[in-house]
Amino acid sequence: MPDHNPSAPRVAVVGAGIGGLAAAGALLRAGLRVDVYEREPRLREAGVGMHLAPNATRILFRLGLEEALRTAAVRPEALEVRTQDGRVLTRRPMGDTWEKEYGAPHLTVLRGDLHTLLADRVPAAAVRLGAHLVSCDTGDDGVRLRFADGHETSADLLVGADGAHSTVRRTVAGAEDVVLSGASALRGLVPAARVPGLAPDTMYMWVGRVVRLLVVPVDAGRQFSYVALLPAAGTPDEESWTGQGDPAELAAAFDGWHEDVTALVAASGTPGRWTLHDREPLSRWGHGRLTLLGDAAHPMLPHHGQGAGQALEDAAALAHFLDGTPESLRRYEEFRRQHTTRVQLGARGGGSQKVRPGAPDGLRQVVEDTSWIHHYDVEAALVESAADA
Ligand code: FAD
Repeated sequence: MPDHNPSAPRVAVVGAGIGGLAAAGALLRAGLRVDVYEREPRLREAGVGMHLAPNATRILFRLGLEEALRTAAVRPEALEVRTQDGRVLTRRPMGDTWEKEYGAPHLTVLRGDLHTLLADRVPAAAVRLGAHLVSCDTGDDGVRLRFADGHETSADLLVGADGAHSTVRRTVAGAEDVVLSGASALRGLVPAARVPGLAPDTMYMWVGRVVRLLVVPVDAGRQFSYVALLPAAGTPDEESWTGQGDPAELAAAFDGWHEDVTALVAASGTPGRWTLHDREPLSRWGHGRLTLLGDAAHPMLPHHGQGAGQALEDAAALAHFLDGTPESLRRYEEFRRQHTTRVQLGARGGGSQKVRPGAPDGLRQVVEDTSWIHHYDVEAALVESAADA
């Protein structure tokens, strides 16, 4: 990491999630001074699984995280789509096929494992824990941050990486409603040994008429992470990522399904519950000396598996453009907004996991073409945009 010039611009990053930590690491390496403010008393992530598509893994590998990620994650060899009685509708090879096609693998990983790898790239002294931002404003000379405990501080620039319910976003966009998708998710982890019928190197999509179940191996194949998509049963204003579900609701949704599914459901403890929602894309991500990144900028439905991938791309782009001036924030926003809006809107309506109504027997799985997302190489795009400028 470069030695920091004491006159280098000081950047406040609010939020130490995957986006905030990736941005902090990248900005520190670009020679900026960085302070990360996280409201939680310690760094941690919910222990569920997530997808890292090739557009994300190629960024992480360039950061030197390839070996650690390949050890902690799983590179699924195939995606199998099954009906609720276990009939295999399609089996699509992934593994080497995807890695050759995209130049980087698709990995499935525990969120906590990825979070730890990114946290290890940011010195502990740069992270202020228990720092809950309640308001901020931007002026000619800098930004002012105010915290729940009454503490105040300032910085040259502010990056709001404070997630889907971002305080910084409110400063940019005012009060907004969330957009409910009409679906909710129950999710959790089960030991792979409890579901011996499922291969720990395969991703499964089980499709019923109303309910879908996505099962991915994580934790070097030791666990499966599942997400069950059901019609929304939450109250219309419920918008939490972290609510608790009801094991009885999970059992009822999959009553009578194939024994691999019922074994998984029986092995699951209390599932997490998630009322799926996003927000409308913003016409601007910032003003003055502040900007947004990750879910704060573009909260999206999970159907493209791109929440973290887009945050990682944002972080790489921000580090490329940021020179300490407000204008450099606008260049970053201009570069990212169109691409993330396309991903964000594409994830609506089922995204890459859409089941097309009217397909034979109403069940045929149609995996939408998301290769344009996976082929995207943010660093190549940055080089191209510099050449065009
Ligand atoms: P987040 O991961 O939400 O991180 C925001 C950080 O900011 C948090 O650490 C939070 O504590 C902190 N923060 C918030 N407000 C303040 C404040 N006022 N002051 C200081 N700190 C603040 N996406 C998927 O595609 N699939 C999934 O299964 C999935 N599961 C998720 C589960 C959880 C619990 C969460 C939180 C998100 C999930 N997502 C999922 C979204 C995905 O992980 C994110 O898109 C991605 O990680 C980018 O995150 P981020 O850093 O922008 O935001």
